[in-house]
Amino acid sequence: MADSNSETGFHVLVIGAGEWLRGTANSAKTQDGIAQNAATILTYSIKCTVFERESYLNQRSRDWSFGIYWAQGPLWECLPEPFRAKLNTATVNPSRTPSPEDFIRMLNGETAEELIRVPTPNVIRLKRSSFRALLAEGLDVQYGKKLSVIFSQFPNDKDEPTVTATFEDGSNATGNLLVGADGAKSKVREYLLGSEKAALQPLPIIGCHATLTLPADIARKVIAELHGQVDTLTSGDKVHDIPDHKRPETWEWRPTMTFWREGSDQLTNAAEIRKAWNENSEKMAEPFRSALLSLPDDAVIWCERLSQWPTIGWDNKQGSVTLAGDAAHPMTYHRGQGLNNAVHDAAYLGRALNDHCENGKPLTDVVAAYEAEVVERGNEAVLSSGGNSVMLHDWEQLMNSPLFQHGAAPLRQ
Ligand SMILES: Cc1cc2nc3c(=O)[nH]c(=O)nc-3n(C[C@H](O)[C@H](O)[C@H](O)COP(=O)(O)OP(=O)(O)OC[C@H]3O[C@@H](n4cnc5c(N)ncnc54)[C@H](O)[C@@H]3O)c2cc1C
Repeated sequence: MADSNSETGFHVLVIGAGEWLRGTANSAKTQDGIAQNAATILTYSIKCTVFERESYLNQRSRDWSFGIYWAQGPLWECLPEPFRAKLNTATVNPSRTPSPEDFIRMLNGETAEELIRVPTPNVIRLKRSSFRALLAEGLDVQYGKKLSVIFSQFPNDKDEPTVTATFEDGSNATGNLLVGADGAKSKVREYLLGSEKAALQPLPIIGCHATLTLPADIARKVIAELHGQVDTLTSGDKVHDIPDHKRPETWEWRPTMTFWREGSDQLTNAAEIRKAWNENSEKMAEPFRSALLSLPDDAVIWCERLSQWPTIGWDNKQGSVTLAGDAAHPMTYHRGQGLNNAVHDAAYLGRALNDHCENGKPLTDVVAAYEAEVVERGNEAVLSSGGNSVMLHDWEQLMNSPLFQHGAAPLRQ
């Protein structure tokens, strides 16, 4: 049994190397100014080790992109200078410069008629795999570590609590705070609340995603129809990678298709999934219909039932275990709020831990203050995102949906 906590000092264990992972260490850097790079911050400022169940970075082939709509400030707070300068390399379209005039065109898929332009000032659209790779640079990320058990201990009033994580490979790690950043199906959330209270709630919507390149003629028509807004959510046809700007047939696209389906079952049969893909594509206006139907027969289509967990408070074991990102507020993606909230969590938890480590505030107080904000903001974001997804699938309600009424901005400023 290996114990990774070989040094002394306050030690944060982060479970999950998702997009959340850089906040804690970097807030410390910007405020204490000691460290010159992420690795030294982690070692000398707030010591932090990340444990990831994947065997290596981006092991899962499933990828997508996401927009930073309102969390540019918190993102900047979490990223030290070398990473800010490199952020553009993690976007889906590195040649594009964010502009205050950015917007998303929402189209009627059946007619290609524009329904509304949603303002998305200075949006940064990141490719998930590239963003994760950038965030992991210089961090102590231990791969192949799937969390199985957590154990917290509280020595006495004055000492820091200790928390031990045990992994499926039999190894363990001990620290003073464990952050569950292990995504929507969080094991840490289950530990804090029990399986019933922590369970995801299924919604009557199925989401399917695929990655494809398009024949040159179709690609040109799609680009023309999108008026160059290829890195937006428009009609679900998002560009995912642009290897050669002048040759649209090299561009990678990642369409998302969501449709109504009552119940709580998953769609797992490949033939049934392809049938649903084709049936929905057939209803689309050109050139989107041809684009979606050009997906090769043997292409992988990822499919899942959308679900959510309206955030409630948890027992944080005297400040020794907390949640962040999708683990704290798993929500649907039609209004693009999940990552924005995750980045906000990262910045706020970084500030809270700095208050403990640098300013001597009790851990229980700073963690409680962090959680009070997360629970209120998370609950609202989850419920409004779920309500929005339902309304987007109903023509009667579409125009009143949060996306059409408020765009991608948070409901509470
Ligand atoms: C199609 C799509 C489009 C989206 N668009 C947007 C958008 O435009 N804007 C936006 O703000 N959000 C968007 N989102 C949401 C966004 O992707 C998520 O909110 C965000 O990725 C959450 O990051 P996370 O780090 O909390 O979780 P994750 O990225 O899920 O990371 C969790 C990590 O924990 C690891 N893990 C899980 N269990 C364990 C375990 N037991 N032990 C160890 N490790 C474990 C996982 O392997 C994973 O690496 C979108 C989501 C999808 C699916």
